Amino acid sequence: SKPIVAVVGRPNVGKSTLFNKLTGQRLAIVEDTPGVTRDRIYAPCEWLGQEFMLVDTGGIEPFSDDVILSQMRRQAQLAIDKADVIILVTDLRSGVTATDQEVASMLLKSRKPLVLCVNKCDRVGDPPPEFYEFYNLGLGDPIAVSSVHGHGTGDLLDTVCAKI
Ligand code: GDP
Ligand code: MG
Repeated sequence: SKPIVAVVGRPNVGKSTLFNKLTGQRLAIVEDTPGVTRDRIYAPCEWLGQEFMLVDTGGIEPFSDDVILSQMRRQAQLAIDKADVIILVTDLRSGVTATDQEVASMLLKSRKPLVLCVNKCDRVGDPPPEFYEFYNLGLGDPIAVSSVHGHGTGDLLDTVCAKI
């Protein structure tokens, strides 16, 4: 069976947009309302001959007691447990949040290979100073991506495939 790559992160950072861009399909619903994906969504993906299954998740809100958000957290945890590689998606525009830090430490506990994606880097060229804040998550070199435009997705896939 194909290796599994899970896309996780807090709601609204662009996980579903990234998933759709990488798979070339529109299986995941992209919404301005945080937390639309409640279940896990899978699609086959291929990069330079490496095949894998990409999994979108609803997002992780570690601090919430809300029933729907806790179901999403559970689905994300199941995806993490099954994953061979995990992509943590963050958002350049909001910077590093307490939730990002909480999710990062939860992922580090999983001991799985991790790839840090800083999404919404829509401008081409050198990343802005805020980008370097993401080194503080302790997950290694962040990768600048614009899931809307597609910039950086090649670097992201190279990094993911190197960890499969
Ligand atoms: P999710 O909750 O993490 O799955 O986030 P979504 O994929 O549903 O996206 C949330 C919002 O962020 C939507 O309005 C997207 O259009 C927007 N978005 C996602 N990726 C990007 C990006 O690379 N650049 C910009 N400017 N907006 C993005
Ligand atoms: Mg989503």
